[in-house]
Amino acid sequence: MRDWLRNIADFFFPRTCRVCGKVLLHNEEYLCMQCMIDMPRTDFVSNPDNAMAQLFYGKLPVERAAAYFYFAKGSDYRRLIHLIKYRGEKECGSYLGMMMARECMSSGFFDGIDYIVPVPLHRKKELERGYNQSEWIAQGIADVAGVPLCTDALVCHTHRESQTRKGIYERYLATREVFELLPDTPLVGANVLLVDDVVTTGATLLACGEALLQGGVRQVSMMTLAAAK
Ligand SMILES: [Zn+2]
Repeated sequence: MRDWLRNIADFFFPRTCRVCGKVLLHNEEYLCMQCMIDMPRTDFVSNPDNAMAQLFYGKLPVERAAAYFYFAKGSDYRRLIHLIKYRGEKECGSYLGMMMARECMSSGFFDGIDYIVPVPLHRKKELERGYNQSEWIAQGIADVAGVPLCTDALVCHTHRESQTRKGIYERYLATREVFELLPDTPLVGANVLLVDDVVTTGATLLACGEALLQGGVRQVSMMTLAAAK
C-alpha cells in the first residue's frame, strides 16, 4: 500500500499488534517490532537433532525439520495460531511463513527442495473454514524460497471402519482421517517440504509423511510455524 494511503487508513482504522495489542506503526505488519524481536524462536534450523526432528526418530526418515516459534500454554504468541486458524486471519499466516523463510534462507534449509506441500484439510472442514491455513503459510514460504507449491496431490479422506453394529460413540472413534498421495503427480521422485501450522505430537505430519513416501516421494522435510512446548 502507498505510504500516504496507509497513513490515512491507519488514522481512521488503527491496526493493532496481534500479540500485545499495541497500535502498529505504518511500517509494521501484524506484529509490532518489539513482539517480532521477543518472539520465542526455536532455532531448530541450526540444530538438525532438534526436538521436532526427534518426534520422528524410528518412525519416519525425515530429512530436515524446523518450526519458527514455540507456543507454550498461556503464551501471547499462541494467539497468532488461533487467529490464523479460526478467525480468518489467513494473510497473517502467509506473512509469518514469509518471515520464517527469510530467517532461515541462509541456513540452506530449502536447498534441494522441489515442492512445498501443505498438510491438506478434509474437504468438509475446508469448506466450513473457507480456507486451509497451512496452504496460506506454505504460500508465504514458497514465495520467499522460490519453490513451487503443490496443493492438489496430497489429499485427506475420512475413513470409516466397518461399524454396522456400533453405537454413536464407537462410530465416532472408528472415523479417522487418512492421507493419500494421488497417483501420477509431479511429487513422485521429488524432494518435498511438508508444511503445517503447528506441531504437537507430530501425528499429523507423520501420517502425511508416510503417505508421501509410500506414494513415491523421494525425501520429506517438515516445517511448521509453531511447536508446542
Ligand atoms: Zn506487539
